[in-house]
Amino acid sequence: MGSKRIEDLMVSNYRAKDCEYSVTDLCKPTYQLWQQNHTELENKDTKRVGMKSLIGSAVHEYFEKQSIDGVVQELSWVRKLPNGTRIGGTADRLDWRYSINKWQLGDYKLKGDYAAKKFMGVGTKANPNPKPEQEKEQLQLSIYRWLFKGMFDIEDKAVIYLIIPGHMSYSPLPEYQEVWLDLLPISTIDTYIKGKLTVAEGDTPPECDCNKAWMCRFCPFSMTCQESTEINKEENNHEFTDEK
Ligand code: SF4
Repeated sequence: MGSKRIEDLMVSNYRAKDCEYSVTDLCKPTYQLWQQNHTELENKDTKRVGMKSLIGSAVHEYFEKQSIDGVVQELSWVRKLPNGTRIGGTADRLDWRYSINKWQLGDYKLKGDYAAKKFMGVGTKANPNPKPEQEKEQLQLSIYRWLFKGMFDIEDKAVIYLIIPGHMSYSPLPEYQEVWLDLLPISTIDTYIKGKLTVAEGDTPPECDCNKAWMCRFCPFSMTCQESTEINKEENNHEFTDEK
């Protein structure tokens, strides 16, 4: 792909408010997305952002400013479904892999110590070999590949650049590492998106698939959602986080 074409792509006109859905929306629990489609918030654009998210933004901005040969950074794009629904998103980076003539998707993730251990499947005495919890990241990156279909030939393995802010020397994990994920086939993502939006746009609420143990406290629909408990509604004065 020529550099002019890449430059054109890098200034695509993606703006979240111009799309019906973002890649992040498609990774939400279906019930939460249903709430999003059926709830009028007083000020939908107001979103408080947590400190971790601010650090995340700074890290992304730092990498965005780096100019590296063979790397496309912060690539935004919008794809339209046959019914006109627009889905947009921004991938952190695409690296050209000369050895296989394909692009490789990459994403920077900042995770606290606890979340990083869950992500990597670090065990405890009680549960020495837990399964790494990587489904959400696998889905997110697979949707990015779907988004760029026809523009970039992207290989099946993607990489997460995992950074642990405030890393402790005794942690079993390093402060920084690269974690490889297998992407889901594009046809699987086609089916996933179609099914997800059919349910999320329907009149009947789906069964709740949110992890209520922690999500409701940070959810903008917590005040009206019937699944959210009173305690969660009270605690929802906390900052929303939008960890990348
Ligand atoms: S308040 Fe809780 S149950 Fe309701 S949509 Fe948000 S995360 Fe899901």
